[in-house]
Amino acid sequence: MKDTTHIPVDPRALAVLRAIEAEGESAWFVGGCVRDALIGRPAHDFDIATSARWQRVRAIFQAQGRHVIEAGAKHGSVGVVVDGLVVETTTYRVESSYSDGRRPDDVAFVDEVSLDLARRDFCMNAIAYHPERGLCDPFGGRSDIEAGVVRAVGDARARFEEDPLRILRAVRFCAQLGFVAAEGTRDAILESAGDIRRIAKERVLSELEKTLVAPAPGTVIAQYAPVIDEVIPDFLHEDASRVGEQDASLERTARAVDAAPAQAGIRFAALLADMEKTCGNGAARNALRTLKAPRKLIDRACALLDALDEKASACPLRIRLLAAAHGGDLGFVRELVALQRALGSAGDAANEEGVRMQGVLDEVERDPGPLKRSDLAIGGGDLIKAGMAPGPGVASTLDALLFVAIQGGVDNERTALLECAMSGNLPREPAAENLFKKVLKRELTNQAKHRNIQIRA
Ligand code: ATP
Ligand code: MG
Repeated sequence: MKDTTHIPVDPRALAVLRAIEAEGESAWFVGGCVRDALIGRPAHDFDIATSARWQRVRAIFQAQGRHVIEAGAKHGSVGVVVDGLVVETTTYRVESSYSDGRRPDDVAFVDEVSLDLARRDFCMNAIAYHPERGLCDPFGGRSDIEAGVVRAVGDARARFEEDPLRILRAVRFCAQLGFVAAEGTRDAILESAGDIRRIAKERVLSELEKTLVAPAPGTVIAQYAPVIDEVIPDFLHEDASRVGEQDASLERTARAVDAAPAQAGIRFAALLADMEKTCGNGAARNALRTLKAPRKLIDRACALLDALDEKASACPLRIRLLAAAHGGDLGFVRELVALQRALGSAGDAANEEGVRMQGVLDEVERDPGPLKRSDLAIGGGDLIKAGMAPGPGVASTLDALLFVAIQGGVDNERTALLECAMSGNLPREPAAENLFKKVLKRELTNQAKHRNIQIRA
């Protein structure tokens, strides 16, 4: 019986399917693009499963002058590039000798693709679609999608043992799609969590990041905390002497992650904030390093956590120094404020501090003043013209000027800056970042002692 479902597909992906069929091979859309279309989400990549061997697919599209990406060839996959869209094309993988790959009738095609579907991870991902044949859905994926359920194809324990990445994919799909795991799948996720250690760290990170930047992953993170604990040891930082603490911490973390803007750096910071506090400095950095996170992500998340640590009330000088210590980027401070607010709940001290910081940040944003070297009214050339010897001293003088200007010690104006530079009264510190961080620290200590103290360089 033919299914009459119609799914909109990208014309470039359709052209790939047609070209393969024109050679007498069978081909279906499979995986995420079918799932997402049934959910009503935009598809972001298109996968085709086909009877054609990868070499044949390559030959078909090279003959059309198309670029073919062979990186996945050893798994039977090639990427066909059509006007900027990569269409991933994979030979049916059938775990029996049933298929000869070349039976040009509908029934054989359906048999072939349904065997390929059986090796896929979840029923919702094991649906094939063909523009004339409609859906091939041997595992009831469509009704799972309608019910919002993530269900392993076959025995969940066995499928997770076969490939533990599926555990993280299950968690990620729950977060991303707002689905829940079917009972057996949920139990298997928790029981098999230890197997995640066998997966390459890069793949772990990618799934964890997708989970974290989902709209509201908090509930899923709390439910599958033992899975997160496998990829971030100490996430649950168990302390037997404080029964109940762990639940409270987890609840706080889940809430903070949901409340933080959906960007990787800040969401990782929200995820790790409690652990960092309990397990001591460096725990978050170590966790991210172990996951082989890119340097930029590690630095952002850890800089946010470090800045959180500097307990002091909000004031414009602190906000300016914080921005200056991070390349003059008020965006960093904006993230910090968002994180601070996310970590508190309405009315508590952390939240109130966040709200106060927000007010001061808004004020600073209206009139930020100079926050990085290039914001200064003079440049290195001006200093050299005024008689300074070229060399590293020029840059550090600019940093020192910036530093004084931020504190209101000099106007950001040519004559005043040049005068100040030549006066010999500038703080002599080579690295700008250290300079700002040092002063930031001193500023915070002073603030704690007496409010409203003015520091001069
Ligand atoms: P998205 O692309 O939105 O992340 P997806 O489901 O399309 O989700 P892909 O990694 O693009 O994920 O994989 C495409 C399809 O390949 C999946 O829908 C699924 O059918 C199959 N698949 C991917 N990874 C696995 C796996 N580890 N085990 C079994 N099947 C998998
Ligand atoms: Mg995909």
